[in-house]
Amino acid sequence: MTTAPRLECSREAARLAALDRYDVLDTPREEAFDRITRLAKRIFDVPIVLVSLVDAHRQWFKSRIGLDLQQTEREPAFCNIPIAQNAPLVVPDARADPRFAGNAFVVGEPGVRFYAGAPIVSPGGHVLGTLCLIDRKPHEFSADQLETLTELAQVVMDELELRQLANSDALTGAASRRAFREELGRALHLATRHDHELSLVVFDLDDFKQINDKHGHSTGDAVLARSVAACLGQLRVSDVIGRLGGEEFGVLLPHTGARAAFEVAERLRAAIAEASFSSGGETFHVTASFGVATRLRGTVDADALMREADAALYLAKAQGRDRCVMARPAEIPADSSGRRRVLKGGKILFDRRTRSRDCTIRSLSDSGAGIDVVSSAGLPDTFELAIDTDAKVRPCRLVGLTDRRLEVEFM
Ligand code: GH3
Ligand code: MG
Ligand code: MG
Repeated sequence: MTTAPRLECSREAARLAALDRYDVLDTPREEAFDRITRLAKRIFDVPIVLVSLVDAHRQWFKSRIGLDLQQTEREPAFCNIPIAQNAPLVVPDARADPRFAGNAFVVGEPGVRFYAGAPIVSPGGHVLGTLCLIDRKPHEFSADQLETLTELAQVVMDELELRQLANSDALTGAASRRAFREELGRALHLATRHDHELSLVVFDLDDFKQINDKHGHSTGDAVLARSVAACLGQLRVSDVIGRLGGEEFGVLLPHTGARAAFEVAERLRAAIAEASFSSGGETFHVTASFGVATRLRGTVDADALMREADAALYLAKAQGRDRCVMARPAEIPADSSGRRRVLKGGKILFDRRTRSRDCTIRSLSDSGAGIDVVSSAGLPDTFELAIDTDAKVRPCRLVGLTDRRLEVEFM
C-alpha cells in the first residue's frame, strides 16, 4: 500500500541530487550518528530509533537501534510523508489510523504501532530522510517531545554537514570528495593558464562488497586504508589522492601527460594487487580497476574530465576488472556510449506492466544502465525501465545480476 504521495518529479530529482552530495548511503556506522539514536532512545523510551535516509527505491539506515534490517523498501515507509510534506509526522496508533492500518510494516514486521518522525532537512531545503521513533505499542507524543525530536533531527543534519565539510577522509587520510574536487578545479585552471599537462586517474576496488561480506567490515576498512597507503608510495608529493565515494578514489596528476599517467595508473594497480591481507588465518589479495583521462588543450571543465575518467573506469570493469583503461574522448562522448554516474529514481516494469519494482539508476548510457533494487529475486530476464526524469520507457535485457544490483543492456 502506498502511504504517501511522492514528491513531484523535478523536486524528487533535486532531493536525490542533494542526498548524493552528502555521499552517505551504504557507508559504515559512525559514532556521531549512533550517539544521536542512543540519546533519542533514552529521552523517548522507545525500542526502535532510526536515522533513515530515503533513496529513490529504499530507505537506508545510517544509524539504527532495535531493528536488524539495514534497509527496507521505500513504498510502505512512513518516512515518505515527512519527506513529501517537509513536516514531522506523529502516528500515536497506526492500527487505529485508516492511513496506516493496512500498511505492510504495521500488519507485518516490524509491527509498527507508534511512529514519530522529524525530517532531516538540508540547508538547501531538501528533506534527505528522517530521525524516527517506532514502538510496537501505541504512544502519546506531546508537542514538547516533538520539538525535541525535531531539534535532534537538526543535529543529524549538522553531523552530515560536518562530515561533508571535512577536508580529509578519517579512514584513509585521502582528501574528501569535496576537497578533491576543489583541488582538481584549481589545478585545471593553473594547467590552462601555464599550458601544463594534467591527468586524472580514478579507480574503484573490485568486488569489494564480497570482501566485506567474506571478511567483515573492519577488514574492509583496513583494506581501504592500506590500498591508499600503497598508492601513496607510488605518487609524487604534488599528486593528490581523494576518496570520491565508498571504495572509489581519484588521483590528480599535475604536469603529467597521457602516457605518463597511464604508467602511473599501472603502477598503482600493481601496488594494490601486490598488497596482501589476512583475516581469520587466511591471506587474500584485492584488485582495482582504473580509468585515466588527460586534459585536452583549453579545457577547464573538471566535470568533463571526471566523466571521461569515469567512462574509462566503467570500460575497465566491463573488460574484466584489474586493469587500466585510457579515456578516448573522441570515442567516448560523455553521454552516449560511456556510462555516466547518475542517481535517478525509476521503476522496473514487468508481466506486461502489471507489476513493478522501485529502483535507483546508478549509472546510465545510451546502451545500458546499472540499477540498484532492494531485492533482485523474482525479476525476469527482460523487462522495461521507466526513469522518473524522462518520458522514455526502455526495454532491457539483464546482463549482470547480484542480490541488489542489476546491469542491463537496452534492447
Ligand atoms: P565492482 O567490482 O563492480 O566495483 O563491485 P563492488 O562489490 O566493489 O561494488 P559495489 O558498489 O557493489 O560495492 C561497494 C561496497 O563497498 C559496498 C559498501 O558497503 C562498501 N563500502 C563503502 N564504503 C565502505 C567503507 O568505508 N568501509 C567498508 N568496509 N566498506 C565500504
Ligand atoms: Mg567496487
Ligand atoms: Mg564503487
